[in-house]
Amino acid sequence: MKDFEVGDILPAREAIAMLNEVDLAPPIEIPAIPVEADEANISDAERAWLHKEIKRLKKERNALVLAHNYMPKDVQDAADVIGDSLYLAKVGTESNADVLVEAAVLFMNQILAITKKPHQKVLAPDLGALCSLAATADVEKIRAWKREHPDGVVISYVNTYVEVKAESDYCCASANAAKVLLHVLEHEKGKPILFLPDVYLGYYAAKLVEKQGVSLDLLWLMMGACHVHDAIRPHHVEEQRKLHPGAAAVIHPECGCTSACMRQVSEGGVAEEMMQFRSTQGMVKFAAESKADTIIVATEVGNLYPLSRAVPDKKFVPASREAVCAFMKQNTLRNLYLSLRDMKHEVTVDPELAAKALRPIKRMLDIV
Ligand code: SF4
Repeated sequence: MKDFEVGDILPAREAIAMLNEVDLAPPIEIPAIPVEADEANISDAERAWLHKEIKRLKKERNALVLAHNYMPKDVQDAADVIGDSLYLAKVGTESNADVLVEAAVLFMNQILAITKKPHQKVLAPDLGALCSLAATADVEKIRAWKREHPDGVVISYVNTYVEVKAESDYCCASANAAKVLLHVLEHEKGKPILFLPDVYLGYYAAKLVEKQGVSLDLLWLMMGACHVHDAIRPHHVEEQRKLHPGAAAVIHPECGCTSACMRQVSEGGVAEEMMQFRSTQGMVKFAAESKADTIIVATEVGNLYPLSRAVPDKKFVPASREAVCAFMKQNTLRNLYLSLRDMKHEVTVDPELAAKALRPIKRMLDIV
């Protein structure tokens, strides 16, 4: 097998051929999860007090609290808006609140810092909330690819930092990855495309490229993965399907089981309506429409909470209970309160980079 490093850019065929054979170890250290991220470790009295204070401070500061679906339950309960990266970016961008406190990870906070209005401040409860996938994307490797492909188009997944977005032509989220790619195929005909940094989402993109009758020779992928989703393997889904006969499965396309599960469906091993590939937000629609009573969910376990709130008559089981993002869990009810009380930690972005990153972000927000 060809030698490669995590974050290398390969022709799509080569990347896909190695997909399930390679170790996509995260290039950064994974932090410990704070004890209070587990709601059992906060007393009811403290929880009630923190919720009351957060409510008071939101009003006093004219603040909007946005929380990602993977947040601890307590943080989701304190938020005004809960959603995936695309939804939070849209709502945050449209808001007129003076303060946007976003309990998520840094790449999402940066989007708000780029799109915010001049009077607004963007706060993150904890600056240690990073992302193993975003850490994969190396700007120098992208610049080298662009030098080799001067007419190339770079599509970067939203899970990237501002330096990478500034080198990109388009951004996409998992909710609109297919639409953005179809847009590029239609409007940038015949040009080489680099899709980064998630190789599983890239596989999903490659299937679309093939369906459009476009040669895979034009597609390049970065060998990156989210350590949480990468660890959800085909056997996890199979085990849950055996434990819950009749259950449908909904899979985030960043998962390590994506290619095997997509093959199962395309080869007729599983009926299409019993196994689908959706963004965290898209899973709600799938769950509401599915005829199955039980849904196996392949993504970060935090998403089970908004799913069970949105579709209370269904039972949700995680494909893997181990799928916990320690970066997301750095946000807790306590540091959300401190963030509002002390107006910290303000997230700012270099204005030159922000100006360059704005165009691909706007394209992502426009193509829905
Ligand atoms: S779940 Fe994965 S992609 Fe999402 S923030 Fe955590 S490490 Fe990044």
